[in-house]
Amino acid sequence: MALSSGSSTSREAREKITIQNVSRSYESTQALADVSFSVAEGEFCCVVGPSGCGKTTLLRAIAGLDEPDGGSILVGGDPVTGPGLDRGMVFQEYALFPWRTVRGNIRFGLDRPACDCPDCEARVRELIDLVGLDGFEDAYPKELSGGMKQRVGIARALAPDPEILLMDEPFGSVDARTRDRLHAELLDIWTQTGQTVVFVTHDIDEAVTLADRVVVMDTDPGTVQSTFSIGLEHPRERTSREFVDYVAQIRDELGSPANNSV
Ligand code: ADP
Repeated sequence: MALSSGSSTSREAREKITIQNVSRSYESTQALADVSFSVAEGEFCCVVGPSGCGKTTLLRAIAGLDEPDGGSILVGGDPVTGPGLDRGMVFQEYALFPWRTVRGNIRFGLDRPACDCPDCEARVRELIDLVGLDGFEDAYPKELSGGMKQRVGIARALAPDPEILLMDEPFGSVDARTRDRLHAELLDIWTQTGQTVVFVTHDIDEAVTLADRVVVMDTDPGTVQSTFSIGLEHPRERTSREFVDYVAQIRDELGSPANNSV
């Protein structure tokens, strides 16, 4: 696993994901229209915007789960032609197998899910430790809280040690305290792994808490409205003037009400 300092300033500014003029329509709906931006290697990029602005469509296209009608998406300079072990995806609704234990769900993320060789066992053990699920290896999803389920989802996505982690509103269904804890854990994991992260959310506070850079999208059709570089060290103090200023700027850009959710 590649280690990095977790600081954007110490990372190379090499482009890891390049999104060029991407468009996607569903019948009469234009979900994405001419979307272009790039994500640097090791960068934590949040995509924020109102419901329906195409965030999930964009993430699925980067994952290779959906094909744009126009434009291109490059990962490490190569066009995306389908899913790959270089990109791990974490879904909002966990998407765990109810009939598999924690260990079984995480194991499913490995490129050889049926293999019980010592290396694969050790990798599953390492992931259980990484996401703090020690003692719950043999529990089933129905026995877990929402936060624990999402830890399993994250561990499964991390299993093949992907270079890119794609996260679709992963903490939308957990309570605020659990979300705060998961934010800290995710930042720790990111610091340890040096992965490139694209994290979709409609919560401006969450975006400013996590991101090196926030891409703001507009809706109907889905377009990139602006991007903000967040020049704050982690952990970020939500009541600091700088933090509040970033949130206000993004909220102004979105023209949304003052609840910080769009
Ligand atoms: P977001 O994640 O920002 O809420 P989505 O990417 O889910 O946005 O959706 C963007 C637009 O595309 C929405 O208008 C949505 O209704 C439409 N859409 C998404 N997926 C489909 C689909 N499979 N069939 C038809 N319309 C879709």
